[in-house]
Amino acid sequence: MPIDPKLPYDENNIFAKILRGELPCSKVYEDDYALAFNDIRPQAPVHVLVIPKAAYVSWDDFTAKADDAEIAGFMRAVGHVTRQLELDEPGYRLMVNMGTNGHQEVPHLHVHIFGGRQFFQMIA
Ligand code: 5GP
Repeated sequence: MPIDPKLPYDENNIFAKILRGELPCSKVYEDDYALAFNDIRPQAPVHVLVIPKAAYVSWDDFTAKADDAEIAGFMRAVGHVTRQLELDEPGYRLMVNMGTNGHQEVPHLHVHIFGGRQFFQMIA
């Protein structure tokens, strides 16, 4: 079920538990700002999630509240992961689901990285 993005941050959401090491993940990359790990139900040959280390419910929450260093650090981490995975050629897709209409299910911001195949022109 999609989450209500206006709810306060839930410290017990699944990605918070992964960040605290209480649940395992298949780690791809980690730095001061971000953790990247393989999606548990991959939708493509490469399906990695990148999450900020700090507690942000959604893209909206992050872009409203994070400071410039956090935003830059997080964006650089996403770029680092795509290069680490050698996805740049022939390319990849990034996706962020936001709130109910975007069908966001986990209430901690995450960027999906999809790669390893060609994607359709648009996701409905
Ligand atoms: P959303 O719909 O919120 O944008 O995407 C949530 C994503 O998190 C889904 O692609 C789902 O497969 C993934 N996911 C949910 N629970 C877990 C988990 O426990 N571990 C990992 N690695 N991915 C998860």
